[in-house]
Amino acid sequence: MNDKTTGRDIEAILEDFISRDPANTLKNEVNEKAFDKPLVGFASGDDPIFEEYKDHVGPFYMTPWEIFALTYNDLEIKPDELTVISYILPQTTATKKDNRKENFYPSERWARARIFGEETNTALRRHIVESLKAKSIRAVAPALTPQFNVRISPEYGFSSTWSERHAAYAAGLGTFGLCDGLITPLGKAMRTGSVVAQMHIPATSRPYTDHRAYCLYFAEGTCKKCISRCPAGAISESGKNKQICKDHLFPVTSSYVKQNFGFDGYGCGLCQTGVPCESGIPPGKNGRSDS
Ligand code: SF4
Ligand code: SF4
Repeated sequence: MNDKTTGRDIEAILEDFISRDPANTLKNEVNEKAFDKPLVGFASGDDPIFEEYKDHVGPFYMTPWEIFALTYNDLEIKPDELTVISYILPQTTATKKDNRKENFYPSERWARARIFGEETNTALRRHIVESLKAKSIRAVAPALTPQFNVRISPEYGFSSTWSERHAAYAAGLGTFGLCDGLITPLGKAMRTGSVVAQMHIPATSRPYTDHRAYCLYFAEGTCKKCISRCPAGAISESGKNKQICKDHLFPVTSSYVKQNFGFDGYGCGLCQTGVPCESGIPPGKNGRSDS
């Protein structure tokens, strides 16, 4: 194993991909970039938080060790030999600006970012894995494994066997908002991804102890802007109703995207745009200051 690869090296792999790779595209006429400069964080494979996720979500939830051991058929590997690389891909200024203006359907850029941007994200996951393998570092992207699928959690309903947002939380990249999105230093209008690698990179500190610290509603009882932004009534003070949200995505937005933008897609993200947490941690007692 190559022990010399640093966290900065990993960041450079991601930044280079996002700034130069043609796979970072909305696939519109002028091939605009899908995402701006990423933010990267790291968590140790033996962080107890991953077992806590399993306890909360259900036994089907996979730890970094389980994913890695299954992928490489290596039960000897120790959790502390692994690092979870997590990243945030912020939506571009143009995409956010367009979606801010919408109040029912997604803007074209947003819908493109949901479909073609996620293709970018998939390509990035693969690129990180291949870049590490080229350095003789074994790595796997959990979301691209055969074990990745959606189950029903007794407590949370539809839940996947690995959560990119929870990996990002573990890697110090953000906390959850009332609408369920992850509020990061680059905001909530983003996509996220992760890779588990056999390497040691110091964990990024988590500048929070509460998993909802950055949300103004949970921190101060204010805001609730995502409730009024949701065209489907899926968000309330109790959180997001995943089924109502899903029923809006399919078929309401999927039909609209096909008819108006000419590709098979869907999307919404109104709760991620035109809200105080759209592009950063909103000012407040647990977030950044106004200064
Ligand atoms: S819009 Fe307001 S209430 Fe909703 S997640 Fe963001 S900060 Fe929290
Ligand atoms: S994605 Fe759209 S439908 Fe779903 S919760 Fe957010 S605003 Fe509501």
